[in-house]
Amino acid sequence: MEVTRQILRDSYGRAIRDLRVSLTDRCNFRCFYCLPHGEPPIAPKEKMLSYEEIEYVCEIFVELGIEKIRLTGGEPMLRKDIETIVRKLAKFKSSLQPAGHLHDLALTTNGYFLPERAQALKDAGLDRVTISLDSLKRDVFKRMTGVDVLDKVLEGIAAAKAAHLDPIKINAVIVRGHNDDEVADFAEFAREHDVKMRFIEFMPLDSGHEWSRSDVVSGKEIRQRIEERFPLVPVNVARGSDTSSRLVFADGGRGEIGIIAPVTEPFCGACSRIRLTADGQIRTCLFSTVEHSLRDVVRSGASRLEIIDYIESVVLKKEPRHFINEPGFVTPSRSMSFIGG
Ligand code: SAM
Repeated sequence: MEVTRQILRDSYGRAIRDLRVSLTDRCNFRCFYCLPHGEPPIAPKEKMLSYEEIEYVCEIFVELGIEKIRLTGGEPMLRKDIETIVRKLAKFKSSLQPAGHLHDLALTTNGYFLPERAQALKDAGLDRVTISLDSLKRDVFKRMTGVDVLDKVLEGIAAAKAAHLDPIKINAVIVRGHNDDEVADFAEFAREHDVKMRFIEFMPLDSGHEWSRSDVVSGKEIRQRIEERFPLVPVNVARGSDTSSRLVFADGGRGEIGIIAPVTEPFCGACSRIRLTADGQIRTCLFSTVEHSLRDVVRSGASRLEIIDYIESVVLKKEPRHFINEPGFVTPSRSMSFIGG
């Protein structure tokens, strides 16, 4: 008898449609807001999910209604032969499941390896990329990321465009006293290069646990700073589970602005995301303080149905919202680079 699967839903009725898969906890950058201090401890190879394991669990997630998979990290392009896993996952785009089908396979990267590899990723079946870019000034870029490679990242953006990995999104984490004076310049960059420029509020997810509320530049202030140079109008579509509020230029200029304000304007009520870390732990929220070892379940020899039951039971434990703004807030022990941003 054929089983018709229900889509994944948490105990608050939110449909889970979006899976972020971290391919590695290693990174070649040392962004001060993420992984500031020297060599971090990384998971031993035997604890990391193999490509075969990632393919297997992603197939199950797609059967359960996951429509978007975003590969991330650490720096996902440090994982050997990333095109292989892209090719394996891209197959799920054509396999229609009772609960829907995968229609978006994306990658978040620092862009360093894109100049040589963007086309190969496209050929393997990747739909689009999000590239981090925290400054347009060489010295500030170096200070924020720990590496002097702004030109290489800009080349990476150009390579992604040439390979049609679009719509291309550019992520900048805005931190007071570092790059807040560049907000309008980034907007100009979006217009010039016809990309979606997304501004992210600094979240308490840095491995150094040095986040301070006074470093956060609010989404509201970011918008004001852009509008001093370029008036904006909201994009007239329902936001749905999108992390960003989307705006376009009032004068019809190219490009788009996205403002992601999880600290000052939380959007947990519409969250459709879960995460799988490189060592196979399900995280139901960026700020979860507990993880659920899908790796151990898969490696214990559990049947496919048992794995499905496990995933469904974990999703039911998804937190109602984050508690950044409350007195008892506990920062997760793992930073964004381990969780998979
Ligand atoms: N290495 C890839 C990259 O640089 O895009 C993917 C992983 S990175 C952890 C994913 C995203 O998380 C990046 O856009 C990064 O800027 C963002 N991020 C990391 N730490 C953050 C923090 N404390 N607050 C806000 N965003 C953060």
